[in-house]
Amino acid sequence: MKRVRCPKCDNYITFDETHYQAGQSLVFECPQCHKQFGVRMGVSKLHNIQKEEKTEEAAEDKGYGTIVVIENVFHYKQVIPLQLGDNIIGRYMKGSGINCPIETVDPSIDMNHCCINVSYDKNNNLKYILRDGPSNTGTFVDNEILGDRERRVIEDGSLFTIGATSVILKIKGNKED
Ligand SMILES: [Zn+2]
Repeated sequence: MKRVRCPKCDNYITFDETHYQAGQSLVFECPQCHKQFGVRMGVSKLHNIQKEEKTEEAAEDKGYGTIVVIENVFHYKQVIPLQLGDNIIGRYMKGSGINCPIETVDPSIDMNHCCINVSYDKNNNLKYILRDGPSNTGTFVDNEILGDRERRVIEDGSLFTIGATSVILKIKGNKED
């Protein structure tokens, strides 16, 4: 899958590039703002898109772990590094200012859907606490919805669901490994 960015609202649109040939002109309609725009499938354009994807695949773990957003019909796979403190997770929208935006067209993900707080516990191990936004559709851990004021400790490999999207916490260099 490849993607293009809407020139009006910055929303990402994913498409299957194997259906098209280099040099072919495509017209997209942005599902978010309904702007129509054309993209020519030049070789260089494809190359640039691939390069961008690689950069994100190799998204640097800053030492506080990452979240892996599993690919589905709304978006491709994304790896987003976490930082100490609050990591606000939601659907990417221009100007929303959150630090863990997911580029997706999943309409059931809020702009500010949930948050992972990263801190050190008293034994100097990293600790990850998930809480809901509060969001419209909720945040689920092990198919259980988090309560409005619930704070759930999550660990390496923990899977949670926001909208139709599954996310896995990955912690490298965990002291307990
Ligand atoms: Zn748009």
